[in-house]
Amino acid sequence: MSILTSPHFRNASADAIVSLARRLIAFQNTSAERINCCTDYCTDWLRQHGLAVRCYEHGGLKSLVAELGTGDPVVVLNGHLDVVPASPEEFIPYVEDGRLFGRGSYDMLGSVAAMMVLMSELATRPPDCRVVLKLVPDEESGGELGTGHLVRQLGLVGDVAICGEPTNLNIAVQAKGILQVTIDVPGLAAHGSRPWLGKNAILEALRHFQAIASLRFFQESTPFFPQPSLNLAKIQAGTVFNQVPDLCRLSIDIRYLPGQDPAAILAAIREAVPQSEVNVHFEGSPVNTQISDRWVKKLRHHAGSHFFGQDGSADTRFYAEQGIPAVEFGPSGANHHGPGEYVLIDSMLRYKEILKEFITHIREEEQ
Ligand SMILES: [Zn+2]
Repeated sequence: MSILTSPHFRNASADAIVSLARRLIAFQNTSAERINCCTDYCTDWLRQHGLAVRCYEHGGLKSLVAELGTGDPVVVLNGHLDVVPASPEEFIPYVEDGRLFGRGSYDMLGSVAAMMVLMSELATRPPDCRVVLKLVPDEESGGELGTGHLVRQLGLVGDVAICGEPTNLNIAVQAKGILQVTIDVPGLAAHGSRPWLGKNAILEALRHFQAIASLRFFQESTPFFPQPSLNLAKIQAGTVFNQVPDLCRLSIDIRYLPGQDPAAILAAIREAVPQSEVNVHFEGSPVNTQISDRWVKKLRHHAGSHFFGQDGSADTRFYAEQGIPAVEFGPSGANHHGPGEYVLIDSMLRYKEILKEFITHIREEEQ
């Protein structure tokens, strides 16, 4: 029996991950101040465990980068410390039936704790490749100040990036792109008792939405996604009962497929609603990592799980923009962004072991 599989080692490692994850949850990482405190804590923890850590601050939020090993490839482990808001009691972590409960346990402080413990173990025996751990503060609000800054402005990339989002130990290789638009639909005001004299901008806007939903791009699919999605998020229009509204603004959140062109989608929308003004509110690139990529194939070999596509967006998009193969890969659990969030303790340990095997065998040729 190797030391890695001995029950004593497994328990010590699981205990270290759980106690660290509990500590991270208790920081209540929902404000800049709390997140920065948590980042400082992680910096100290990693330094105490023998790692070289660099700290960055951008837009009032701190990120850290810890690195070890030498040679190629460069494996990036990317974790976010911020969590979505929750009631105060959800920030009191507890363990029950092999599960660690608490806000952020599954998304993704359990992954972060596993990555940190992994780094501390690798520090005692550095691998034949470089491993770069990045802990960032703002994935839940778009990631521009954390991963976005580190990747775009500082050029801190690598050969493969693993973001520890909750994936139940499966590997997300695709993620939809984001195209959020506003559409200002003009109408013609008239007295509410004689609507036939005006043109109701709200009714016109609803016809617009139907026209957009029937565009060709919305009927397309990929092996991972049956179609893109359209969410009519906001309708802003109208003032009083007795007036026909003369302007209506639609806010539409489009999640398009990897391989689709957002400029072409925008052009098709503008063509479908020529009288209205279409503006882009936010754009985020899709992720389209190839399952044939050698590092991704290796990770799957060690994980033994399946590939899938994520509907939502994550920090993987910043790496994908730079042409770096990026995947979401994290432990098992449930209820992220909702009450009763938990991560399975065994899966955090398994997660750490998969990453460790992947990293320590990364230079070996495939069979
Ligand atoms: Zn997340």
